[in-house]
Amino acid sequence: MPSLPLFSRRSLLRASALSALAVLPGCAAEADEGAEAPKLADDVATGPVLIVGAGIAGLVAARKLRQAGVAVVVLEARDRIGGRLQTVEVGGAQVDLGGAWIHGVEGNPLSLEAAAAGLAVAPYIERYSLWRETGGWLSPDAFDALDGLSDSFAEAHEALVASLPANASVADGIDAFVAGLDGAALQPELTPALVRSWLRHSYELEFGGEAASASLAALDQDEGFGGDEGLIQGGYAELVGAVAAGTEIRLSSPVDRVTADETGVTLTLAGGETVRGSAVIVTAPLGVLQAGVITFDPPLVGDQAGALARLKMGNLEKVVLRFDSRWIPGDIIDFYHETDGASDYPDFVNLPAATGGPTLVALTAGAEGAARAAESDEEAVAGAMAVLRRIFDGVPNATATAVSRWQEDPWARGSYTYIPVGASVDDCSRLAQPHAGRVLIAGEATSARYFGSAHGAWLSGRRAAAWILDEADDEA
Ligand SMILES: Cc1cc2nc3c(=O)[nH]c(=O)nc-3n(C[C@H](O)[C@H](O)[C@H](O)COP(=O)(O)OP(=O)(O)OC[C@H]3O[C@@H](n4cnc5c(N)ncnc54)[C@H](O)[C@@H]3O)c2cc1C
Repeated sequence: MPSLPLFSRRSLLRASALSALAVLPGCAAEADEGAEAPKLADDVATGPVLIVGAGIAGLVAARKLRQAGVAVVVLEARDRIGGRLQTVEVGGAQVDLGGAWIHGVEGNPLSLEAAAAGLAVAPYIERYSLWRETGGWLSPDAFDALDGLSDSFAEAHEALVASLPANASVADGIDAFVAGLDGAALQPELTPALVRSWLRHSYELEFGGEAASASLAALDQDEGFGGDEGLIQGGYAELVGAVAAGTEIRLSSPVDRVTADETGVTLTLAGGETVRGSAVIVTAPLGVLQAGVITFDPPLVGDQAGALARLKMGNLEKVVLRFDSRWIPGDIIDFYHETDGASDYPDFVNLPAATGGPTLVALTAGAEGAARAAESDEEAVAGAMAVLRRIFDGVPNATATAVSRWQEDPWARGSYTYIPVGASVDDCSRLAQPHAGRVLIAGEATSARYFGSAHGAWLSGRRAAAWILDEADDEA
């Protein structure tokens, strides 16, 4: 094994944000729509305001309303708070099975939350190496060239959208981009197959969704925050706990039905109990709403119902592998494994700084992530270990493991929202529009700017509470 120089992988997500925003003025226009609070029933803020879900969106909404003197009742289906922010203990380390990073710490509301709660946020700088399917590490020069092609793909976005059919997928865009590369771009180590695999997985690991069904035109709306990626010491659970402090939350209380009438809203719980309030903020994930777990009376209609049907949940899953001691040779930190094969793990993130010991997180997304639902935990761990053993000699057994199950989780039904062909970011805003004067939907799926992220969820929760208080809020 040669000792490798360190690499840094620039995120496709970050790189493509600028170009995509340039061609999609509708995004900015949509975000401005909230400049005035929409008209709700006059008495919505009399309370109690009912909040379905104690994820970050629901918790932020509850706190804002409480601080304004409005009584809230939070009903959470699970026996824990945090939703898709879930920190678990793996061999003594605190590891996030769901959201883990603060994407861009500068100006990010989650950084401000962490600072206010006295939580340390460590900068996380990815340092990637790339293992070829044929064996061997990609040379530093070739990796730099490959990294540069991510930027070139982002820069070509506008032209690709213009030249391909309106229903082109991200995979179509990647194919067209790679087909147009000349020999100079494809230096000997960079085969078209490697570039395709790299771009596909870069997309899928960021967005969770399949490149083959994701909209090329909608790539990528995330304006993002500046600065490093951040990892909260102790995990997201610390921040969730800080936001929840002081809010009364009813756990193990799944809501089946939301009924709005002239004078208020009634929630019907799975056990038949009813809870009455002046308004409701529903923060159940997109996948839960799409599955019809919650019935709305009157039903969602028109643009809102269309948006709900069009958006899609991605499938990002994690296998956490904790080792007793560092065994990865040389300077390798994080690594990408070239693959187009099913149920493989293309990306291994190394979390030593954050967890106080060698902890690898194997990530899988898109179709391969979806295929993971059929595997047992043992099979998932064995799959990730098999990839490690293909790359490295003498890999010890992991001493502790954890496997995420977001797709099968009845209260998540996927990892987070992405924009498939036929949908647009405007659908996120449509989903957030008030229903029946008293029903608001919040959560990451309703953030046109930051869908799929914890900060998008946070901002959506604050927006919903602001609207109930008749305040303008257009940042989600
Ligand atoms: C694997 C993975 C990795 C991620 N990585 C990152 C990352 O690094 N950085 C980042 O910013 N974001 C990341 N995210 C996304 C981020 O975690 C989510 O966008 C965010 O946590 C969503 O918050 P929310 O409040 O909208 O929804 P949730 O956290 O899902 O909260 C909704 C709550 O509603 C509850 N609920 C559902 N149905 C009902 C019902 N019928 N009755 C009552 N309660 C109900 C749920 O139990 C849940 O607690 C990741 C997500 C996953 C899954």
